Amino acid sequence: MSSHTVRGIIGVSMTVPSPRRQGVPPLASQSRHGDVRVVSIPVLCYHRIGGPLELGVTRVGRSVFARQMTALARGGWRTLSLRDFADGQTPHAARRTFLLTFDDGYASLAEHAYPVLADLGFTATTFLITDYVGRTNTWDVRYTWSRLAHLSWAEVEHWQARGFEFASHGATHRRLTWLDDAAVAAELQGSRGVLTARLGPDAGRRSRTRLAPSTTVSSATLGRRAMRSASVV
Ligand SMILES: [Zn+2]
Repeated sequence: MSSHTVRGIIGVSMTVPSPRRQGVPPLASQSRHGDVRVVSIPVLCYHRIGGPLELGVTRVGRSVFARQMTALARGGWRTLSLRDFADGQTPHAARRTFLLTFDDGYASLAEHAYPVLADLGFTATTFLITDYVGRTNTWDVRYTWSRLAHLSWAEVEHWQARGFEFASHGATHRRLTWLDDAAVAAELQGSRGVLTARLGPDAGRRSRTRLAPSTTVSSATLGRRAMRSASVV
C-alpha cells in the first residue's frame, strides 16, 4: 500500500480484491490477505493540464504532462478503463497497467491532455461536475484570478467516442464530507441522472467489485447509504 502526492498529481494505490483478470497479471504488487488475493493497481489523479498559471498545486504544464505520459508508455505501462479497473480485469497483454484520471473536467484537457494521450494509445477517465459542463467556475478565481472553463458536452461526446470515459465528480462541486446523507444522495443522483441522459447508461454505473482505498481519502461520514443509493462509482 502506498500513496504519495507530488505537484499536480495524486498517486493512489487501490486494492482490488478480485483475481478475475483476463490477461496477464499486472506487475503491480500482489499479496494475500486470508483467502483473498489483493492486487494493487496504481491510480494517477490529475486535475488541470496547461492553461493559466495558478497559485495552487493542481496544474501541470502540457510539456511536463507529455513527458510523464511518454515515460510511462516507454516503460511498458498501459491505461485501464474505469470498468476494467473496477472489475479487476485487463484487456492488455501488458503487465504494467494503471488508471489515469482527471478531476473536475477542465476545458484545457481537450487541448493539452487528451491529444497527448491519444497519440500514445492511452485513455483516461474524467470526473465531471455535471452542473458546470460547458460553464466557467468561481472557485478557482482565488488561485488564478480568472474563471476557468470546463469541457462542453460536445467535447465530452467527441472524446467519449474515442474511448475516453466520463464519470461523476458530483453536481455542484460541494464538499461531500460536509453534507448530510440526503444532500449527498441528491448530489450524486442528480449528477448520475445527467451523465446517463447525455452519455448512456454506462456513465456513472455501479461497480460490481467493492474497491478498498488504501488511503484515508475521506471520513466514514461520507454517507455510505447515500453512495449506495446513488450507485455512482
Ligand atoms: Zn474537484
